[in-house]
Amino acid sequence: MRRLLIAGNWKMHKTVPEAIELVRELKELTADVDDRDILVCPPFTALYPVRRELEGTNIALGGQNMFYEEQGAFTGEISPIMLKDVGCSYVILGHSERRHIFGETDDLINRKVLSATEHGLTPILCVGEKIEERESGETEKVVERQVKEGLRGFNPENEFVIAYEPVWAIGTGETATPELAQEVHGFIREILSELFGKEKAEKTRILYGGSVKPENAKGLLEMPDIDGALVGGASLKAESFSKIVKFDREE
Ligand code: PEP
Repeated sequence: MRRLLIAGNWKMHKTVPEAIELVRELKELTADVDDRDILVCPPFTALYPVRRELEGTNIALGGQNMFYEEQGAFTGEISPIMLKDVGCSYVILGHSERRHIFGETDDLINRKVLSATEHGLTPILCVGEKIEERESGETEKVVERQVKEGLRGFNPENEFVIAYEPVWAIGTGETATPELAQEVHGFIREILSELFGKEKAEKTRILYGGSVKPENAKGLLEMPDIDGALVGGASLKAESFSKIVKFDREE
C-alpha cells in the first residue's frame, strides 16, 4: 500500500514573515493527520525559518530545485548539501517552469536527480506534456522520454517520487479529469516496471499536479495510480492546502 504524499510548491511566493504565518496555520490545521505524508517546499530564503517552525510536527521540508555539485563557483545556485543542512528531505526537480522558462534539459535534470539521491534527498521528478504535444498525440512519447532520461542510471534501491504535471494544467485553473490523469499515471507505472521491475513500480509514488484544489482533490486522489498531489496555487493558503490534505474527511 502506497502512503499518500501531499506536497505544496510555494514557488516564488512568501517573504519570511508570510512563510512563518502560513506554516503556523498549516501545522494547526493538520496536527491530527498521521496517515499520509505532508510536505512543504518554500522558496530558499524561507527554508530555515520554516524548518524551525516544523520541528516536532509531521510536515516535511523540501527544496524547489538544486544544482548537482556540492559546492563551488556556481553563482546563484544551491547545493544538495545545503538543502540537507537546512532540514530538507525532498527536492522538486525538473518542474515544468524550470524546463520551459529556464531551459533545463533532461540531461541536466538527470544529473540533479542522481546527485539528490547520493546526498540523501528524495527527488520528486516532474514530467508532463505541453498542450501542443497532447493535441498531436505525443503525451506518452514525451512522458516516457522525461521519465527514462530523468532516471537514467538511477539505483532503484533508493526512493524517488514522480509528479505527473501536464503543463497545460499548471496554474491555469484547468485540471486533467481524474480519468485522463489516471491513464497517464498507469502508463508511468508501466514504464517504472519496465525500468526497475514490478515491485519497485508498485511501491513508487506518482503524484498528480496541475490546478489541484479542495474541490477536485477527492476525484483525483481516489484514482488507483494517483498517490498524492503536488499543489501550487492552493498551497499558498493553509485553509485550502489543509483541505486537500484532508480530502477524504468530512469536516
Ligand atoms: C505546481 O506548482 O507544480 C502546480 C501544479 O501549480 P498549480 O497547482 O498552481 O497548478
